[in-house]
Amino acid sequence: MAARELQRQGVSVTVLDKGRGVGGRMATRRFGGGVFDHGTQYFAPSSPWFQSRITEWVHDGFAREWFRVRAYELDPRFISAARFCGCPTMTAVPKQIADGIEVHTSARVTHLQRQDDIWDIGTEDGTTYRALSCILTPPVPQTLDLLDSSHYAVGADERAVLEKLEYEACHAVLAVCDGIPKLPENGVLEFERGNLRRIMDNTRKGISPDVQAVTIHSMGDFSAAHIDDDPEDVARMMIEEAQPIIEVQVREFQVHRWRYSQIVEPHGRPTLLLGEAPPLAIAGDAFGANGVEGAARSGMEAARRIMRALA
Ligand SMILES: Cc1cc2nc3c(=O)[nH]c(=O)nc-3n(C[C@H](O)[C@H](O)[C@H](O)COP(=O)(O)OP(=O)(O)OC[C@H]3O[C@@H](n4cnc5c(N)ncnc54)[C@H](O)[C@@H]3O)c2cc1C
Repeated sequence: MAARELQRQGVSVTVLDKGRGVGGRMATRRFGGGVFDHGTQYFAPSSPWFQSRITEWVHDGFAREWFRVRAYELDPRFISAARFCGCPTMTAVPKQIADGIEVHTSARVTHLQRQDDIWDIGTEDGTTYRALSCILTPPVPQTLDLLDSSHYAVGADERAVLEKLEYEACHAVLAVCDGIPKLPENGVLEFERGNLRRIMDNTRKGISPDVQAVTIHSMGDFSAAHIDDDPEDVARMMIEEAQPIIEVQVREFQVHRWRYSQIVEPHGRPTLLLGEAPPLAIAGDAFGANGVEGAARSGMEAARRIMRALA
């Protein structure tokens, strides 16, 4: 969103992402003939601004309403009962937002260096990019690692705030099942307690027509307790817990460990400008509000701050 907004305002932008595609935690994977959204499952607007963005995305065909929650389940933060997802899959949203922007994927940023009023940004493959300003949007611990390894001096107050930001971990099991899992009509079952947070049927969601593909997410406490265990063993424990609920056999599975899944308590401000000459902002779902909406708003605000700093 930050890149899109800057480009809209006439700034030349380059996005560097270590992932094989864009989207980060808005992620989709294909395996065993199935299609799995294995990060964000859905998003919901809690502000008229985000509602308008979603309305545009739906109009342009890369998002759609997935289901509605009943009135008694409605989270007071959300202004709509509708839950939306990417179309055809979750990655459609970031892909579309990145359309027309210069994006380099598989480009892990390994260091930043200030050269007078320019940033030199180095990636793992030895390429150096030069920019007048820079916005960093990885999860905050990864941003801090990058700044530290670049010998960038983060102010003591800012460091104290950033080091306090905590994320929940989450294991996502991608399970190919032998039959139709016993789940509600919309394909989503969420839990208040236990080791599993939710079970989702990607086939009922409409993204995996050929193979019965189920995503299982763990609770944060469970993942934190098993963060250094072999992910396949953790996945087996989760499948064992899910099987009596879904009442179908898991034929094969993969597992993805999200070390930084969702922020526990976001920082009060939507972005932090760490330096002005040349500008360096940090943004993402840890700032302002969590989830997809929080990340989008944070990106917009970072773009505005950069524009002001460059003016
Ligand atoms: C399992 C799970 C379930 C979720 N469920 C929901 C939900 O239901 N609703 C909701 O609203 N939100 C949900 N979320 C949270 C939501 O996905 C995030 O809040 C949002 O996607 C964060 O976006 P972001 O751009 O801030 O960060 P990210 O999506 O994490 O993007 C950061 C990007 O930085 C890149 N990166 C990191 N380090 C480097 C580096 N050194 N060099 C180059 N690139 C780098 C990464 O590859 C990544 O693409 C969920 C997340 C997970 C993992």
